[in-house]
Amino acid sequence: MQPIEKTAQELDMFQKIAEHEQVLFCNDPATGLKAIIAIHDTTLGPGLGGTRMYPYESVEAALTDALRLSEGMTYKCAAADIDFGGAKGVIIGDPKTDKTSALFRSYGQYVESLNGRFYTGTDMGTTMDDFVHATKETNFINGIPEAYGGGGDSSIPTSRGVIYGIEATNAFLFGNGELTGKTYALQGLGKVGYKVAQQLLEAGANLYVTDLNEDAVTRILKEAENQDGNVEVVDSDAIYETDADIFIPCAMGGGINEETIHKLTVKAVVGSANNQLETDDDGERLHEKGILYAPDYIVNMGGLIQVADELYGPDKERVLLKVKAIKDTLLHVYEQSQTEGISTIKAANLNCEKRLEEQMHRNNFFTRKRRPKWEIKE
Ligand code: NAD
Repeated sequence: MQPIEKTAQELDMFQKIAEHEQVLFCNDPATGLKAIIAIHDTTLGPGLGGTRMYPYESVEAALTDALRLSEGMTYKCAAADIDFGGAKGVIIGDPKTDKTSALFRSYGQYVESLNGRFYTGTDMGTTMDDFVHATKETNFINGIPEAYGGGGDSSIPTSRGVIYGIEATNAFLFGNGELTGKTYALQGLGKVGYKVAQQLLEAGANLYVTDLNEDAVTRILKEAENQDGNVEVVDSDAIYETDADIFIPCAMGGGINEETIHKLTVKAVVGSANNQLETDDDGERLHEKGILYAPDYIVNMGGLIQVADELYGPDKERVLLKVKAIKDTLLHVYEQSQTEGISTIKAANLNCEKRLEEQMHRNNFFTRKRRPKWEIKE
């Protein structure tokens, strides 16, 4: 057989996906579906990750997003102690104008073609209802509405997880986990942030809040009035400069960076936003500044715990019990960071890599021969 010559472009593509097990490009002209499914690592179990819909400016940008997000899911699954691996889907299109039931059914067929190597559900730009269409083509969908036998709104366990994260942080910093009497700076009052604010107000905490959406701000001010709570609204830049004890990012990713760290005077950062740190260095910067950082993928894993748990049939109480583990997981990371003198994000990543390494030795019909990626560096 003639050796296959690869063009420079092909080589680049394989280099780009070198950390990933599999990448599937889905192209269905009949429905207009263009999607990419990236499976990063199935050491712990089948790939699990939501599917995002976004008008990416290029296929390259969509691929980059899928690769980055699926890798993040590997760590999140490892931290959540669930038997799933990291994966993610992205659909290229405008969620406001390009959604049809046919498109999601077509996507469901591609998910089905992976025969259980990939479980998916909602993410940015997609809703539970979109995936009801996909369930007509595949069983490998989770996070569907309660009316269809799913676990329902994942922001409930996610917000609960944020509260557990704050309690663990208070316990570590102040010697008791109580929420009462402390001041929190909350960025983003959407599905998760609003519920976090409600729970903090119920506990008698003081809040600085900000949101770009005026309706969201009005809603929390009404809630504060009902609860006789103490809420001060600040604009979106000022949220980094309040005199709060803890900063709670519940909006977009990348909010913690060199510039904002410089402004922060809080003692800790604990929030639900995905990919809070703009770069890995920002975790080190927080550490050097003495600001305790609760790794985002631990704090926000409540939603993931719910979708993974759904495979046993929906049970809200069981889910909330599992979400409570966020407290111990965080405390362990804080203690490890303190004892070993490393940043909390480094400690969290090491723990995930350790779990993956241990699992490698236990089974791995699929990944046994892969490079020893999860070698632990002493
Ligand atoms: P959402 O879209 O319902 O709410 C986000 C809110 O942030 C919106 O009200 C928006 O107006 C506001 N916002 C955006 N940019 C802002 C800015 N610069 N300053 C102030 N406010 C701003 O989203 P959500 O479901 O509440 O999720 C919040 C974060 O948590 C996201 O990063 C999401 O990826 C992450 N997360 C959510 C879940 C979940 O179960 N919903 C699970 C894990 C992680």
